[in-house]
Amino acid sequence: MSNGFIFYRGPSMLDGSPIIAVATGLDRGSRNGKTGGELIQTWILRDDMAPHDAVKTGADAAICGDCPHRGRVEDGRNVARSCYVVPHQAPLSVWRTAQRGVYPVIDPCDAADAFAGRLVRLGSYGDPAAVPADVWACVLAGVAGKTGYTHQWKTPRFAALKAFCMASCDTPEDQREASADGWRTFRVRLDGEALHDREITCPASAEAGAKTSCDACKACGGLTAKARVNIAIIAHGAASKVNAFARLRAA
Ligand code: SF4
Repeated sequence: MSNGFIFYRGPSMLDGSPIIAVATGLDRGSRNGKTGGELIQTWILRDDMAPHDAVKTGADAAICGDCPHRGRVEDGRNVARSCYVVPHQAPLSVWRTAQRGVYPVIDPCDAADAFAGRLVRLGSYGDPAAVPADVWACVLAGVAGKTGYTHQWKTPRFAALKAFCMASCDTPEDQREASADGWRTFRVRLDGEALHDREITCPASAEAGAKTSCDACKACGGLTAKARVNIAIIAHGAASKVNAFARLRAA
């Protein structure tokens, strides 16, 4: 079997466009300093269009919804994008492999066997809300842990994702609103912004001394994770992305 499979092929729950959800990293070889070494990655991609073309045209709304980090399309190009995922790198590679028919399409409940006992990242690219919540419930039934983040928490029909995902929050106000609505939250903050009550710094962050990785921590798994606190991290990554986040906050 290939080192991946498609566990959902169908309409996006965000806008009805054709999408796929692909799992990779099944051979336990997926290494990343922050997320750790045992992670299964999942990629939520348009089925009918390469990821970088979707970003250029705004068709990435099918897999990212109204996430503010998508940027916006002006004069045929995307401007002000602050998402840290580079669509023509790993997402394009996974999409091309899927379009060549390398990945088998399997039933989500069969995917659960491959996921059992592993840590799964919901949406290494793409918002988990694009995939039906009952698909996630099935594939995640036996996992040892998961991390997931959604920007769609303001939309009531995605409330079932509270079980698996953190509400992605870009402002202090959003964090308070999402928390009041019953979500656990993951907030990106500006350097110098204070932590809120019941909020801790991500222990894998630079400001916390990079003490652990996601596969050891497992805190960002929504309401079904053992952790009960909310998480915050200072905007990080390439200077261009940090500056884009600061501009987003100032807008
Ligand atoms: S709080 Fe834990 S699970 Fe969440 S991002 Fe940080 S290290 Fe990963």
